[in-house]
Amino acid sequence: MAVEDGGVAATSVRFSAADEGWMQRALALAALAGEQGEVPVGAVLVAADGRVLGEGSNRPIASSDPTQHAEIVALRAACAAAGNYRLPGATLYVTLEPCVMCMGAMLHARLARVVYGAADPKTGACGGVIDVPAEPSLNHQTRVEGGLLAAACGQCLREFFRARRRAARRAAAAALVGPGTPAGLPDEGAGSGG
Ligand SMILES: [Zn+2]
Repeated sequence: MAVEDGGVAATSVRFSAADEGWMQRALALAALAGEQGEVPVGAVLVAADGRVLGEGSNRPIASSDPTQHAEIVALRAACAAAGNYRLPGATLYVTLEPCVMCMGAMLHARLARVVYGAADPKTGACGGVIDVPAEPSLNHQTRVEGGLLAAACGQCLREFFRARRRAARRAAAAALVGPGTPAGLPDEGAGSGG
């Protein structure tokens, strides 16, 4: 399996069928974000007894707020509903490796476990760029496990960025040639890769 697919072997047996079901839900939330033009990342926060505590989709663009990552949205919803800024025993499932901000917030919330899908070599804080949970001197340890449905989670992101690049190229080409150009611009829709 390629690093871009999550960098974790597909044969991993660390995850249960319930884990996989929650990640499927996070993937559905990621798709919702993508439909809104946000980078498609979704998160679900689940109590130890299997209750959903909160859900979130990435929405920094719509909210003009750089902190509105899927994990933060889910944490805020869950903490508000619980009337508690700590959620001990809870597990957060997220489609992409958390960034420093989200990992910090999840440590503050005293989550028991974080499960993510695709690795993020650009902003990942669980080994992708730096490894926050591996820091032994942190006062709270949250178990972090990556690679669940990594291929599907990575595919969701790749398709989004591919479509966005394609749209940007179309817009650039249209701006270059201006209005009234005859038909015949190459169609980038088929087989152009990304
Ligand atoms: Zn984040």
